[in-house]
Amino acid sequence: MAITEQYDFLVIGSGLAGLSFALSVSEFAKVCVLTKAEISDSNTQWAQGGIAAAVGESDTWLLHEQDTLIAGGNINDPEAVRYLVQNATGAIQWLEDLGAKFDKEHGELSLGKEGGHSTHRIVRHADNTGWEVERTMVAAVQASKNITIYEKAYVTALITVDGVCRGCQATISGLGQRVFAAKATMLATGGCGRMYQHTTNPRVATGDGIALAHAIGAEILDMEFMQFHPTTLYHPQMRSFLITEAVRGAGGTLRNHHGRRFMYDYDARLELAPRDVVARAIDAEMKKLQTWCVYLDTTHLETHQLTHEFPTIYEKLRTIGIEMDRDWIPVVPAQHYSCGGVKTNSQSQTTIPGLYAAGEVSRTGVHGANRLASNSLLEAIVFAKAASEAVVNNTSSIFARLEPVPVKCVSEANSVRIRTILQHQMTKGAGIVRTTEGLKETAAVIQGLIKEYDSQATAPFSSHPIETKNLLISANYVATQALARTKNIGLHFNQDLPTESTQNIPVATR
Ligand SMILES: Cc1cc2nc3c(=O)[nH]c(=O)nc-3n(C[C@H](O)[C@H](O)[C@H](O)COP(=O)(O)OP(=O)(O)OC[C@H]3O[C@@H](n4cnc5c(N)ncnc54)[C@H](O)[C@@H]3O)c2cc1C
Repeated sequence: MAITEQYDFLVIGSGLAGLSFALSVSEFAKVCVLTKAEISDSNTQWAQGGIAAAVGESDTWLLHEQDTLIAGGNINDPEAVRYLVQNATGAIQWLEDLGAKFDKEHGELSLGKEGGHSTHRIVRHADNTGWEVERTMVAAVQASKNITIYEKAYVTALITVDGVCRGCQATISGLGQRVFAAKATMLATGGCGRMYQHTTNPRVATGDGIALAHAIGAEILDMEFMQFHPTTLYHPQMRSFLITEAVRGAGGTLRNHHGRRFMYDYDARLELAPRDVVARAIDAEMKKLQTWCVYLDTTHLETHQLTHEFPTIYEKLRTIGIEMDRDWIPVVPAQHYSCGGVKTNSQSQTTIPGLYAAGEVSRTGVHGANRLASNSLLEAIVFAKAASEAVVNNTSSIFARLEPVPVKCVSEANSVRIRTILQHQMTKGAGIVRTTEGLKETAAVIQGLIKEYDSQATAPFSSHPIETKNLLISANYVATQALARTKNIGLHFNQDLPTESTQNIPVATR
């Protein structure tokens, strides 16, 4: 029998959503944070642009609301959007009170502007806002006496009793398997970008939360709305490093293998067309010329402009021998953000009692068919805090003994093979531009791989194989939910379907 630990609340994941919830409930309860790698390993720490909030003098939450709805193709949940934008200012204040340092000018927050936002609204810390936010949150939770943190604690199952989530089990490095019982569990496991060949997401983004929730019957929605960033570095030593849109804003141009500035063939706004348009153009050009990447040309820009405006990118590229003022940068679109996820209500409750979800793993309804730039960090805080308010008066009992769920994996070698097939198929059949045939093929391949995995799963727990299974489960939702959509909208683009009029709205993918 595995050791059972008891807490008031469990938190799975240590990105912005998980740590926001943990910190908020630690004021009145004992909390345990389980995270599968080092505490800072998360999508959160890679966020570049910033956090959207109507804090500017001429801005209002109404404008932020309007921009969010336009970006989402108006299929967002209006209540969730209003809750998000009305709580944005408070979220920024909360982070500042915890010690986050945001860029200021004359004592006021210095706000950036991104695609889809009608005004300057992005609160930021240079080009590494996520790092600053994660640093702040980690310091705060580590200082709390009410929070126990287990790193390298891989959650392998949620445990239910009579349909209610009562806790989870984790395999912890050096300790083995443990069972955790609590009044409620917060799922904050982030994204699932690793199901594609190219993604900006770090290695922890393997859709674990989707698979954990799926296993206990939670509803999962909108997984077809997968956001791709047009320009990430294509290089074997530095995969999918984001090259911000600001480089194109500064005059960077896109060229194909023949050196031709191909955006002339696609959109009058050229490189500054909406990002989903640019991503689709690059995708088409790569398919047409049968190449693995296109190029971002900044060689005509002044060296001092490049080093001043893009110091991080300039230095990173130099380490792999690319000089921005001399060489073209090989770029490729990459998966970036999952708008769908585990369905939650306004208090972040999933459809399974006792289970909450927040951050990228959740589907709050805020993003609709496309996420407005820099709304995701905001969503992570606002809905984690909504959950913390909902659980204040939670009087559920804690089950002292929970039965662990058996976990079986395929071998590491088999896992690598299956994951490679999956990533290739998802990129080919469920990427930026889809077809009905391609989606059907993708769903069939995934379902075949799931059967194969299950029939060969005889080995004990190992993280790579279990992540591969989680990716398969998540990818199956992407393919099947994309197939179920009868019209194109926002991020879902199937060549065989009619397109909603909102398709070409300027939206961002940072
Ligand atoms: C390169 C990049 C740039 C971005 N820029 C911006 C931006 O400028 N503005 C913006 O708003 N958004 C941005 N985003 C998106 C944003 O960073 C994420 O959506 C957000 O950080 C998600 O936070 P989260 O807490 O939900 O998940 P994460 O921060 O990803 O945290 C998930 C946590 O769960 C843990 N975990 C996962 N599975 C398990 C398991 N089975 N057991 C235990 N632990 C587990 C992980 O280890 C991790 O600690 C960007 C994303 C990327 C990748």
